[in-house]
Amino acid sequence: MAIILDGKNLAKEIEQRLLHDIQSGLNKARRPPGLAVMRIGDDPASGVYVRNKEKACLRIGVKSFVFHMSEKISTDELLEKIDTLNLDERIDGILLQLPLPAGKDESLLLNAIRPDKDADGLHPLNLGRLIKGDNGPRSCTPAGIMALLLRYKIPLEGKRAVVIGRSVLVGQPMALMLQAANATVTIAHSKTKDLTSITKQAELLIVAAGKPNLIGIEHIQNDAVVIDVGIHRIAKKEPLIDNKPYSLCGDVKSDEVSIKAGAITPVPGGVGPMTVTMLLVNTVSSWQKHCGLSVTLGDLLP
Ligand code: NAD
Repeated sequence: MAIILDGKNLAKEIEQRLLHDIQSGLNKARRPPGLAVMRIGDDPASGVYVRNKEKACLRIGVKSFVFHMSEKISTDELLEKIDTLNLDERIDGILLQLPLPAGKDESLLLNAIRPDKDADGLHPLNLGRLIKGDNGPRSCTPAGIMALLLRYKIPLEGKRAVVIGRSVLVGQPMALMLQAANATVTIAHSKTKDLTSITKQAELLIVAAGKPNLIGIEHIQNDAVVIDVGIHRIAKKEPLIDNKPYSLCGDVKSDEVSIKAGAITPVPGGVGPMTVTMLLVNTVSSWQKHCGLSVTLGDLLP
């Protein structure tokens, strides 16, 4: 039976470390770290994610500034808002909550964020730094997965890793980070033929396809380490025993895969909490740089 890679627990441990680092830097910095979160439109899932991020900031002493804007806001107004935040000395990280409403140019807006305030690590300059192995804010989800693998001492050097998904948000930076850790990486995507023959080669399988229950027991080899990035709300049929109208699942059929895998991340409680924590790591790290403090979080930014 697979061991559970507990992201919720590790996220709490890292939060304690961040809390400590913030408290020890406050005297010299004379202000707390600041994170600005821009939410555009009324997507309910985004609302939940933004609230979780606000709560996480509160727990460790990061000041959050949430801007909830109508989806009717113009691109010029958004660029102006980003400019104001770029210049605001109280703010170390700016996060544009994705996905954006239809018609908004994601690249244009992400590129307008000052690279040293890029809390999500998605600015082209920071993606370039990742390719080169230079320091910088890192994409939160893959960085969170790397922290989990490190915590559970999962060896990567020389291992065969397969990443399902090639998005700029998850799949691509994930593959780069694993490569930098000396794994041999294959990326599979929606046009990949015979997915099973590829995933069966994986000693480490990262699944970020955004397809509920895509991966079953037939896709994996014995003792594979399986990281489930997907998170989906599935409407429940009556009766609602716990009063929740939906249940959560990932891209992996965890019940059956757990029998064969060596380790697996749960959904919820695996990759999700680590993503939020890495947002805090990027923000606190920028704060340390902006305030002339020693940077203490390099081991968490692969
Ligand atoms: P995306 O839609 O941008 O990319 C999905 C990728 O999967 C694409 O590259 C596509 O080619 C590939 N793909 C789709 N169907 C496939 C198939 N049948 N076989 C092989 N490859 C396939 O999504 P994303 O932004 O990369 O996110 C992926 C999933 O991870 C989503 O479910 C998202 O909600 C979730 N996610 C979770 C967290 C978290 O914190 N837990 C963070 C980010 C994303």
